[in-house]
Amino acid sequence: MAAIGFIGLGNMGGPMARNLLKAGHALKVFDLSAAAVDGLVEAGATKAASASDAAADVEFVVTMLPAGEHVRTVYLGDGGLLASAAKGTLFIDSSTIDIPSARETIAAAEKAGMMMLDAPVSGGVGGAEAGTLTFMVGGAAEAFAKAKPILEKMGKNIFHAGAAGNGQVAKVCNNMILGISMIGVSEAFVLGEKLGLDAQTLFDISSTASGQCWSMTSYCPVPGPVPASPANRNYKPGFTAGMMLKDLRLAQDAAKTARSPIPLGAQAAQLYALMEAAGEDNIDFSGVIRLIRGEI
Ligand code: NAD
Repeated sequence: MAAIGFIGLGNMGGPMARNLLKAGHALKVFDLSAAAVDGLVEAGATKAASASDAAADVEFVVTMLPAGEHVRTVYLGDGGLLASAAKGTLFIDSSTIDIPSARETIAAAEKAGMMMLDAPVSGGVGGAEAGTLTFMVGGAAEAFAKAKPILEKMGKNIFHAGAAGNGQVAKVCNNMILGISMIGVSEAFVLGEKLGLDAQTLFDISSTASGQCWSMTSYCPVPGPVPASPANRNYKPGFTAGMMLKDLRLAQDAAKTARSPIPLGAQAAQLYALMEAAGEDNIDFSGVIRLIRGEI
């Protein structure tokens, strides 16, 4: 059993922290939302007075925050974690953030005598609740080996992606594939429909032919073929179009820095941005099919 600080108890962090408690770890928790903290305290965690309090007298600290600016504030800001935590503390940041923020924060942690990994996740709230997340981890091999047993209590597939920041690289690349492929599948199903091909028939053919992909077989954007997909519950998320847009914007920033062309990634970002402009960014990202149909 380890003593773990957990900061950021939102849609993802809340259930991840619960799984650490269930595994028998001792948790000190902090969030700006008192209600989020109270929920975890009821489940057996100890309430911390601040982020730095959550990081005091613990071996590990997990952070699950919205974006790079929050991670910078919590770690690098006045009275932030790196100014107050004990040397040797192992930080695991599972937030999805920009690559430069991840690399700079990890370098600062190492300079302060601490260990730190970027460990963004895939799998959504369902995966966080079920403890089946995929972790894409960047950072020193020694820190990864130490963190792995903790990550295994929250996830099923734990990958070491290489040096600091490479977890975020894997995450933006994976989600760019996902954002693009969902649009491709949506276009095909709308085209098929308009040409008189039944959605189930197209699914039966394409899911066993070369058009097969996760966006079709696990998350089909039309109701029917995949009963668990958000299309069957009026595009209730799941993973919102707004979150997909956030990740595609991170991919665009990264591509600019790397001078790597991402014409389809850029186009995909624009389509999810249209959903945002129409006030539809809170529906599941597979609801992009509604944009293709002209319903948004
Ligand atoms: P969320 O907004 O539900 O939770 C974030 C939490 O951080 C909130 O409870 C907020 O109060 C807290 N917070 C913000 N600033 C803070 C601070 N300075 N100190 C302490 N707490 C602070 O977001 P989420 O859906 O849990 O997502 C968290 C991260 O995981 C994001 O980076 C997101 O991109 C990524 N992610 C989300 C999903 C998903 O499906 N929701 C899937 C994969 C990855």
